[in-house]
Amino acid sequence: MNCLEERILKDGVVKEGNVLKVDSFLNHQMDVQLFQQMGEEWKKRFDGKPINKILTIEASGIGIAAVAALAFDVPVVFAKKTQSVNLDGEMLTAEVESFTHKNTNHVIVSSKFLGPEDRVLIIDDFLANGCALQGLIQIVNAAGAKVEGIGIAIEKGFQPGGKVIRNMGYQLESLAIVDSMDAVSGRITLRDRQHEQG
Ligand code: 5GP
Repeated sequence: MNCLEERILKDGVVKEGNVLKVDSFLNHQMDVQLFQQMGEEWKKRFDGKPINKILTIEASGIGIAAVAALAFDVPVVFAKKTQSVNLDGEMLTAEVESFTHKNTNHVIVSSKFLGPEDRVLIIDDFLANGCALQGLIQIVNAAGAKVEGIGIAIEKGFQPGGKVIRNMGYQLESLAIVDSMDAVSGRITLRDRQHEQG
């Protein structure tokens, strides 16, 4: 069991609506030493891929992606969810339905920071239905760049996103996969990866 998996079992809280709360270490208070270990694990799993940029989405992907970028020694770009006065020039955009907020966001990346020369690793905290990833993939494609891989901290394996993204042919590396969780008992069951690999 890796450090992230141990931490999910220790500190993860199951909420109604298939939401796993990990705000004590992942997306509110952040355990950056854990992020560092996660970055190093992705670096191993994407060994040999010519990654020169990491792309994530605000807000909760940013901390994880920024620390992971140290292991890859590449810049990080994050997709913004609101049109700001600071955004100028040509924009790459996609529509993303939010799993946690149940609304649709217009996500934006300036084309200054993503172009045909980029070989991109997409990173995010959670994978549920795959909407956020599909939006980011759309943005990479619109830039003429290439998705080299996708790193997810926590995949909820009982929701369809993982299957959808793997069926699209991408190397998707989730550091923890939750197979089931129950808001009443608080029980979280993780996929047994050792068994899967062996
Ligand atoms: P998807 O687009 O794959 O349906 O959902 C992924 C996005 O929704 C992630 O960027 C993440 O911020 C949020 N999300 C999805 N499921 C959860 C969850 O169980 N807990 C938390 N904290 N965020 C989630």
